[in-house]
Amino acid sequence: MDDIYTVGELVEALGAVDRTLRDWLVLGAPHIRDKRGHIWIHGREFAGWVAEMQKPKRERGLEDNEAFCLRCKEIVKMVNPETVPMRGKLLRIRGKCPQCGCTINRGGRLRSNPKPRNPEFEESTRA
Ligand SMILES: [Zn+2]
Repeated sequence: MDDIYTVGELVEALGAVDRTLRDWLVLGAPHIRDKRGHIWIHGREFAGWVAEMQKPKRERGLEDNEAFCLRCKEIVKMVNPETVPMRGKLLRIRGKCPQCGCTINRGGRLRSNPKPRNPEFEESTRA
């Protein structure tokens, strides 16, 4: 898995569904986009990200503002976390790592009892 894959190759390698894979990319799975808009994925980094995503939330014990920084290889408290709603109950939480400053994307799910939304906050996440 220590290679660079295209989306199609990775779908085949993982036996995954193309659409699921693309959802993961949107959720922040590590990938590179070249000048022609082609997506390239580093197999090992991607697998690590997926493993992290698939751990039950209980086990991860992550707060909403916490995420796994791929550069620091540890869970950090994001700076300025923003919640970006996605399709269905999925959402994306984006923030900066306080240690290395890189942008972290984390997937999430709406809770069954979501807190009342703050329209001002949502507005500010569209930038
Ligand atoms: Zn970091």
